[in-house]
Amino acid sequence: METIWILGDQLTLRHPAFERLTPRDAVILMIESAAHARRTRYHKQKLVFLFSAMRHYAEELRALGWQVDYRREQPDFEAGLEAHLRQFRPARMWLMEPTEYGVAERLQQAAAARQVALRILPTTMFLSDRHEFAKRARGKKTLVMEPFYRRMRRQTGILMEADGEPTGGTWNYDQNNREVPPRGHRFPPLPRYAPDAITREAMDWVRRDFPEGYGDIEPFHWAVTRADAEDFYRDFLEHRLDGFGPYEDAMVAGEPALYHSLASPYVNVGLLDPLEAARQAERRYREGKARLNSAEGVVRQFIGWREFIYQIYWLKMPAFAEANFFGDERPLPHYYWDAETRMRCMREIVTQLLQTGHAHHIQRLMVLGNFALLAGVRPQAVNEWFWLAYVDAYEWVTLPNVLGMSLYADGGFLATKPYAASAAYINRMSDYCAGCAYDPKRRHGEGACPFNSLYWGFLDRHREKLFPNQRMRMIYAAWDKLSADERAATLSWAAQTLARLESL
Ligand SMILES: Cc1cc2nc3c(=O)[nH]c(=O)nc-3n(C[C@H](O)[C@H](O)[C@H](O)COP(=O)(O)OP(=O)(O)OC[C@H]3O[C@@H](n4cnc5c(N)ncnc54)[C@H](O)[C@@H]3O)c2cc1C
Ligand code: SF4
Repeated sequence: METIWILGDQLTLRHPAFERLTPRDAVILMIESAAHARRTRYHKQKLVFLFSAMRHYAEELRALGWQVDYRREQPDFEAGLEAHLRQFRPARMWLMEPTEYGVAERLQQAAAARQVALRILPTTMFLSDRHEFAKRARGKKTLVMEPFYRRMRRQTGILMEADGEPTGGTWNYDQNNREVPPRGHRFPPLPRYAPDAITREAMDWVRRDFPEGYGDIEPFHWAVTRADAEDFYRDFLEHRLDGFGPYEDAMVAGEPALYHSLASPYVNVGLLDPLEAARQAERRYREGKARLNSAEGVVRQFIGWREFIYQIYWLKMPAFAEANFFGDERPLPHYYWDAETRMRCMREIVTQLLQTGHAHHIQRLMVLGNFALLAGVRPQAVNEWFWLAYVDAYEWVTLPNVLGMSLYADGGFLATKPYAASAAYINRMSDYCAGCAYDPKRRHGEGACPFNSLYWGFLDRHREKLFPNQRMRMIYAAWDKLSADERAATLSWAAQTLARLESL
């Protein structure tokens, strides 16, 4: 008998071991490790989601004829592994490449210490090839997503024409995707999935053993089975995909989803397949049910950004985790934990996060990440927070997005310039500023939006590092055009704002 060890974020039916072994030759091992779940203060809904999805997946495999040795509520992986080895004595174990750096080696050592060989199989949860990516990246000081994305389009044939040209004649419709919905616009509601008995049991465990976790455990509406995750994505294709493009970058108070897919929790654990998700978006366009800029936008997220981020993680680890280009050391202000701030954008988004474990890309990048960048928060503290606060977060996806894209902590390997923005951007792309205690138009003085002075303070502080970047020249030219008095007042206000960061 052999063993296929399946980890919590590998709940795919396209597991590579299923091609080599049948239920006659192998038993499946799944372990819930309390120590792993306690590595940080994970959002309670993330723990419930993972434990419940794992338990449902075990049932799905049993229905397909597999024997599943599911080790519930173990103190750690070692305890689950030992109990399994005692009972089944497998001749060999198989594991799909874990997404997190160093885990394969750790698990291999744990198995070796117990005299059993653990063979690692290549992952089927990503489409791009790690060795090819590393070969192309060799010697490069910076990597741009666009050429990679075009290769992925050619490789998959998605939104490609027979003559090798991109559908519609253009690769990227981002310039069409910056609209703001009119006031009072009604967004389609999200499907919600009531917790079943398995989910309720997982909730009991999380309530009992992980009370320190971030956020609220209820109401819990996430899908936890493949069938519901597919139903959720179908709803996106029917009701939200068409609006995805135009409103991709918009933020609206009280609207957590807008036209986004919210597919990330499911794709990241294997309940949805990213290639199939992209193909389905293409199909909707070809059937005339979604506009091209929306379909292309979604395809770019799934086969472009998601793959690119994964490859950057593996290319840059382990040094990436310590990157801190600006040498920032401030701790993360308390409102990332409790939403208690007069800054309405922050308050709205953190409240939404506490309640649901989700925020969309622009909320993460242009408000939460942007503020931490401007305030000079230690990148590792920001990364830790993003990793624990989101239902869809795993190290491979937070590190490049947080340290690389959002905080420029890698010195510009991933982003050609920092995603730093003042209140002007947030005011243009959201309705947050309208009801805020701060004035988005003022740079300094009581009541001025903190994003403004911090923005200019950030640029001034890092002038030596950023000025050589051609893409920053216009911004510095605008700053230099202000009168000396205005600049001095703004910088003095920035210093005061930093000094009372905890009470904004
Ligand atoms: C600071 C920061 C932290 C982030 N942390 C995470 C995280 O922990 N987990 C996570 O999955 N994504 C993360 N992202 C990327 C992105 O914000 C989320 O994937 C997206 O918001 C998920 O919502 P959605 O499913 O509605 O996405 P959609 O906008 O509908 O996009 C479709 C899919 O594309 C994929 N995708 C799009 N952009 C990215 C990206 N930059 N990286 C990886 N996948 C992407 C996701 O699987 C997503 O489901 C982060 C981005 C930033 C700027
Ligand atoms: S004024 Fe400033 S703090 Fe208030 S919502 Fe706008 S950007 Fe956020």
